[in-house]
Amino acid sequence: MSMRRRRHSSLISLLLALTLLLSVSAAAFGEEAAPKAQIELKGEAELNWVCGEPWHEPGFTAADAEGKSRTADVTVEGEVIPWRPGDYELRYVLAEGDEVLAEAARLVHVEAQILPETVQPPKGTICLTFDDGPCAYTEEALEVLGRYGVKATFFIVANQTKYLHLLPKILEQGHTLGIHCYDHRSYEWLYKNERNYFTDLMTAQEIVYQYTGQYAHVVRFPGGSRTASFLAATFPGGYEEMYRVMRDAGVRVYDWNVQPESSTKTTEGTFIDFSNPKEPYEYAVVLQHDARLFSVKALESMIEWALGEGYTFAALDETYPEVHFE
Ligand SMILES: [Zn+2]
Repeated sequence: MSMRRRRHSSLISLLLALTLLLSVSAAAFGEEAAPKAQIELKGEAELNWVCGEPWHEPGFTAADAEGKSRTADVTVEGEVIPWRPGDYELRYVLAEGDEVLAEAARLVHVEAQILPETVQPPKGTICLTFDDGPCAYTEEALEVLGRYGVKATFFIVANQTKYLHLLPKILEQGHTLGIHCYDHRSYEWLYKNERNYFTDLMTAQEIVYQYTGQYAHVVRFPGGSRTASFLAATFPGGYEEMYRVMRDAGVRVYDWNVQPESSTKTTEGTFIDFSNPKEPYEYAVVLQHDARLFSVKALESMIEWALGEGYTFAALDETYPEVHFE
């Protein structure tokens, strides 16, 4: 570099330094200190979220330069997908036309749940499961189970508001509360894509939490996992990946391997089917519906028979091996 060029560049540096000095003093004399619109985040600007728990925006407030509330005018850009581990950025913007008056950002780390390892139950374990409640016959099922000290699992449909008061009762009696769905609507809608399915699941979790203060960790697909084949097909890794995504969201999936209601749809037929297994039960997950009175009516004789045969009843929890058709 020539002497002349060097002198030239130091002149530029000097000018730059002067400009900086001027702007700093302008700030010091209050030009920058004029009140500005502001967005204030409630909760942390960076936070961890448990995968599978319904996302709740912690909230924010906004005010314009005069201190007047503008909270209602803030738009939130970005989205947290609470059933998928990952980092999500939310941007909060208060704008007027094209001019951004204020903005803020939040970083949400959605962290996969780590479920306990499963343990093979002792040979001869029977897990009774009831789908489609809570409903008019749930209390009758609870009464019979309670009388024999038998623990079972209830896969509930969470939009049945009339009977949701039974949810805490199910837990208090030592049973497991699992999720069937929020709305037993068309399978076509439910299994169309991940978003539909998990939106339904998150809504059900929300309701279970409202009524019991805890989330469910066991799930049964409406129609079973075979019906969920449409959903499984949306994952590159098929069923295996779908089940892993579910576990990340804190739930294990249980189909069934005994279905005593199916052949006759009578109390007697349900009992006969159940009490004549081809092979002795090793780890039986029995599908029943508390929404079917004939099935609830079979419960007493089923329990009497199984206890007489030396079987043990247990409520499923996330330590029980998942049972899948596929
Ligand atoms: Zn069902």
